[in-house]
Amino acid sequence: MSSAACIFCKIIKGDIPSFKLFESEKVFAFLDIQPLSRGHALVIPKFHGAKLTDIPDEDLLEILPVAKKIAKASGAEDFNILQNNGRIAHQVVDHVHFHMIPKPNEQEGLS
Ligand code: 5GP
Ligand code: ZN
Repeated sequence: MSSAACIFCKIIKGDIPSFKLFESEKVFAFLDIQPLSRGHALVIPKFHGAKLTDIPDEDLLEILPVAKKIAKASGAEDFNILQNNGRIAHQVVDHVHFHMIPKPNEQEGLS
């Protein structure tokens, strides 16, 4: 299921370019266009739904292993996994996405 108006569905289809990190039958991952740190990635279900509560369990189950792989590949020892639901909770794009945000050691700087 996808939504014609959804920016992340367009990214999955390749209609909007992205820096793709991973793709499987149910999951897509790419770099955030406005990264909070180097390697800031978004991991999304291909199933279109605005909130976590809209996504079938079988699709959700495949997300965290991908986030884990990308976190490992980033080389960051410390990182955040964040997922916002609704405007009050700071969600801007209404297609479920998990942020994987590396937190570099301050002594190494942000780059
Ligand atoms: P939210 O606040 O909804 O949790 O985060 C949405 C994220 O999507 C933001 O970090 C934003 O930079 C990212 N984003 C929005 N539009 C695009 C886009 O067209 N391409 C990519 N790669 N990221 C996007
Ligand atoms: Zn979508």
